[in-house]
Amino acid sequence: MSSTTPATEQLAQVAHRLAPLGSTIFTEMSQLAQAHGAINLGQGFPDFDGPEFVKKAAIEAITAGHGQYAPMSGIPRLSRLIAQRFATDTGLSVDPVAEVTVTSGCTEALAASFLGLVNPGEEVVLFEPYYDSYPACLAMAGATPRFLTLRPPEFSVDEGALRAAFGPKTRAILLNTPHNPTGKVFSRSELELIAEMCRRHDAIAITDEVYERLVFEGEHVRLATLQGMRDRTVTLSSMGKTFSLTGWKVGWAIACPKLTAGVRAAHQFLTFATATPLQHGAAAALEAPPSYYRTLLDGYRKRRALLVEGLAAIGFEVYPPQGTYFVLADHTPFGLPDDVSFCRHLIEKVGVAAIPPSAFYHDPADGRNLVRFAFCKNEQTLCEALDRLSALRR
Ligand code: PMP
Ligand code: GLN
Repeated sequence: MSSTTPATEQLAQVAHRLAPLGSTIFTEMSQLAQAHGAINLGQGFPDFDGPEFVKKAAIEAITAGHGQYAPMSGIPRLSRLIAQRFATDTGLSVDPVAEVTVTSGCTEALAASFLGLVNPGEEVVLFEPYYDSYPACLAMAGATPRFLTLRPPEFSVDEGALRAAFGPKTRAILLNTPHNPTGKVFSRSELELIAEMCRRHDAIAITDEVYERLVFEGEHVRLATLQGMRDRTVTLSSMGKTFSLTGWKVGWAIACPKLTAGVRAAHQFLTFATATPLQHGAAAALEAPPSYYRTLLDGYRKRRALLVEGLAAIGFEVYPPQGTYFVLADHTPFGLPDDVSFCRHLIEKVGVAAIPPSAFYHDPADGRNLVRFAFCKNEQTLCEALDRLSALRR
């Protein structure tokens, strides 16, 4: 079937629970960007390479013959380093054997958490805008999302709405902090409220912390450290963002043994194990000295300033991110009717790709005024993109 076949026909064979979700906006926008020779500030992947010492460790692992299945829960050295790092960050001790599971990216950790811990018909509280795999994985698990909308300019948690979203069917809340796409870093008081609701309703929390090292303002508080949350939280992360190797797809889940049992129940049948040599590379990454993280953050601070100031100068209303490598802006000063037509115009007429955030809301109208740009790109790429975007002013 060709790519010009009408969308409904293309989806005729797709299972009913997934057909409504269509194809991911990241694939769609990256394909369009390529077709039009646009600079890609859409899909969040760096246009620079990850560190040599990490790549070298994976190459050495291949050469040394680490080519067979890894243990289901991860190679012991990597599990130990994940546990140690979490302990250093939080002061909580973690048993690497019983409480750490290495997965194929955070994406698999998310799927394993939903499939392994949530029953069909149970509810999961989900902030929107959301990362697009969340509702898809919930659909695969047969769970029901309860949406909570974060609204500009502050994207704060509405206490009344949060309290109302929890009920007798609530099994879990999914929290992503620092948050893609808003760049919000949830405040301690917001997290205290979430923790209170989890305790009150005997719910668990699944936290996606893939941007944990990219915090420019505020403090990254881990929900697992709050009162009563150590044994109610599944903390997920991956090495993709922190080590600029998004294609490696090495992630992990940290949780008490009872919750880990759920994650592993699904993981063992989803992928069984994660690519062995890349786990050796990930272990080398987690041995990076503190200076590595400082340099990473300094670089992103500069890129963030460049893009935030550049977009504001062109006339966007910009919502500067506290964390992540994304920035949301309001495109309505340029007169296009919605985010999808704005992004199409950008790719086709201006030569820059961005993401239309309506894909991240259950009611697309909530995202129609917004556009998301990624700044995980060389400064030169960002300058060239801003130069092209300045055509919008004319
Ligand atoms: N969660 C969020 C919020 C993300 O932005 C991404 C980006 N890819 C992922 C999860 C997926 O992480 P991974 O590439 O490790 O699967
Ligand atoms: N996390 C990346 C983003 O938000 C994209 C990941 C993907 O392409 N699935 O841009």
